[in-house]
Parts: sequence; C-alpha cells; structure tokens
Amino acid sequence: MIVKPKIRGFVCITSHPEGCAAHVKEQIEVTKQAGELAGGPKKVLVIGASTGYGLSSRIAAAFGSGAATLGVFFERPSDKGRPASAGWYNSVAFEKAASEAGLYAKSINGDAFSDEIKAKTIEAIKADLGQVDLVIYSLASPRRVDPKDGAVYKSVLKPIGAPFRAKSVDTDKKQIIEAALEPATDEDIANTTKVMGGEDWQLWMDALQEAGVLADGSKTVAYSYIGPEVTFPIYRHGTIGKAKEDLEATAAVLQKKGFEAYVSINKAVVTQASSAIPVVPLYVSILFKVMKEKGLHEDCIEQINRLFKEKLYNGGEVVLDEQGRLRVDDWEMKPEIQEAVKEIWPDVTTENLFEKSDFAGYQSGFLKLFGFGIDGVDYEKDVEVEIDLPSAS
Ligand code: NAD
Repeated sequence: MIVKPKIRGFVCITSHPEGCAAHVKEQIEVTKQAGELAGGPKKVLVIGASTGYGLSSRIAAAFGSGAATLGVFFERPSDKGRPASAGWYNSVAFEKAASEAGLYAKSINGDAFSDEIKAKTIEAIKADLGQVDLVIYSLASPRRVDPKDGAVYKSVLKPIGAPFRAKSVDTDKKQIIEAALEPATDEDIANTTKVMGGEDWQLWMDALQEAGVLADGSKTVAYSYIGPEVTFPIYRHGTIGKAKEDLEATAAVLQKKGFEAYVSINKAVVTQASSAIPVVPLYVSILFKVMKEKGLHEDCIEQINRLFKEKLYNGGEVVLDEQGRLRVDDWEMKPEIQEAVKEIWPDVTTENLFEKSDFAGYQSGFLKLFGFGIDGVDYEKDVEVEIDLPSAS
C-alpha cells in the first residue's frame, strides 16, 4: 500500500516501513562515522529499545562496540493492512542490519512492566548470551500495570501546587497558544511516579541479578531529563519531574545493593514521548535553532555515542557530575545556549515561528520518527506493510 502520514494531535498513527528502515540506517552510519568504541559493552539488554533514546542505545552498542543486543519494547505489528508502529519497523530494520553485520540481535515485544516479559528476557539471556554487561533502561510509557496486584497506574503531565499558564505551540495548527494546566492531585503524583519512577528499574535489576545473568562489572543506565527554568513547572517541578527524582534516587539504592547503576541526564530531543509534553515542543524548536547555529546540535544517536565514548567507556573513570549523574545535557545547558533561548522566547509569535525558531526542524524530526520525509525514500511507491520481526518468538 501507499503509506502517508496521518497526524492526530501529537501522534502520527501511520508509519512507513522503508522510511523507518532508512532512519535506522542513518543512525547506524552516524555511529560508524563516530568510530569504534574501544572497551565498550559486548552483551547488552535495552529495555525500551525500539524508538528514541533506547533505539539509539541499541545501535550505538551494536555498531560502535560490536555488541550482541537483546531489545525489549511494546510495539504494534501490522494488522489487517494497517501499518505497524514505527518502533516495530525500526526493530525489523535494526535486526536485519545487525544480522548482515554478523551481530546477534533478538527482540522481545511485550509489556516490560510484567513478570512474564522479565522471565522471557532472562530465559533468552540464559539461552543465547549467558550474561549481559550493560542494561539500558529507556522506557517512556503512559501507563503501568503493577505485576503484584494488577492495578493500573496512569502517568500524567501536570504542574504541582499551582495552575501553570505558559506559551506553547500547537504543533498541528502551527500556532503559538497559551497552555493552561491545572495542578496535579497527590494521586496524580503517586501514579506518575509508579509509572515513570524507579520501581520497575529496580525490579528488573533484582530479577536479572537473582537469575545470575549479570556479568561481573556490568553497568546499568536509566535516562532522565532536567531542562531549563521555562519548562520547570511542567517538567522538573511537575509530576514527571517527581517521577524522575524517584528514578534518580533509585540509582543510589541500586548502588547500595552493589550494582554499578547510573542515571544519565540527556538532552531534549524530538521523540514520541517528548512531543506529548506541553511547552516542550516550543522550547525544543528554539533550542534546535540556537544549537544548530552554534554547531552543537545533537539528536538521540549523537547523544548516546557521546555518552558511551566520553562518559561511560572512555578507558578511564566514568565521568559524573557532583551528584553522581552522567550528563550529556551539558551542551544544552551551557549558559550561552540557555541565554540565547531565553532571549528568543518572548519574541516568538505565530507569524514569526519559522523564523525565530527551528519549528521546521521540529516538524521534520517528528515526521522522521514515523519514517516520513526522508531523502531517498519513494513515498509514492506501494510498500509491503506486513513485515515480521526476524527474531519473533
Ligand atoms: P520513546 O517514546 O521514543 O521510547 C519509549 C520506549 O519505551 C519504546 O521503545 C517503547 O516501545 C517502550 N515502551 C513503552 N512502554 C512499554 C512497555 N510497557 N513495555 C515495553 N516497552 C515499552 O521515548 P524517549 O523519549 O526515547 O524516552 C526514553 C527515556 O529517555 C525516558 O526515560 C525519557 O524520560 C528519557 N529522556 C527523554 C528525553 C527527550 O527529550 N525525549 C530527554 C531526556 C531523557
């Protein structure tokens, strides 16, 4: 069939198999260009491996360090002629490229929060890899079913303590709007922490250790975000920020238990998760303009290549900030970058959106997440949308 983008609010409900494959290939090339990652990980489990930072982590480990990778994710295969989700096609393309390069790659599609998927993952490690030496935790989910009692928790993106009104962009209508958000209840905060906090990361690490599938000296990294003051009410000081504080505190809990556990604070990029956060798309559009002008722009793959090469596997000590966190948001948070963003912020209007910010870059980044707008892909051509995951089990 011919697949075109169908955007509904902040999601695109279609995705293009060849476009997704081209996007994966592009990231593989970026990693190869960055050069070999000497002393890097060799057997890697990525939880949340199909899109965004998790997919880039899988690519950086495989094509930078020659690692065998096991990816866990929750994606939709194609159904009755409907295209699959982008993460499905990304994973198909990744597995094919890995296999062509002689690298082991297996994927497990299902709910990472469940005991069943944890058990299935451990079984696969035991059968194929023996042990893993790096576990990346990169889940972004709107809900979680607690494996203990089946209760369902939903995460929300709300400010805490007071309503929040701020400039934002309606990405569909390409208009500057005022976002008005009511404050979270205590239950909202607890639910968001249950979904996006550190509890599940800890459950994973305990299960992996108990099963004896963690190699001596193995590391685990979970991803977090801080960002600038302008997004504090909705991000760092909001419900998601509380969850991230919990995730970051979990790194310390895991360290006390003897794990080499880190949180990496990554840069704001366009992903399916970040495009759902009010205010963030406008901030990202301005940030991209400033960082591109200063030659400091990075996407997920450049971020993770730098994280691995310069911070985690640099041949010496792991590079941490004074609070023990990995920081690849260092360029985003440079004072000159943040000053420039602050200066532009009040001046952006619907009329000058494309001139004052890189909203065009934001839009093309968003479409690319679903395999659209990529050079060299013929979008008028009939494509097969029913594609199996090579490693499907
Ligand atoms: P994303 O939406 O691109 O990826 C989410 C991944 O989680 C996908 O692989 C998806 O399949 C998987 N997933 C979701 N629910 C699942 C479930 N129940 N079971 C199994 N897999 C499931 O998101 P992202 O932006 O790459 O976010 C990944 C992490 O990076 C998050 O912790 C996020 O907070 C963090 N982060 C993101 C940004 C950003 O700007 N996007 C910045 C800093 C940190």
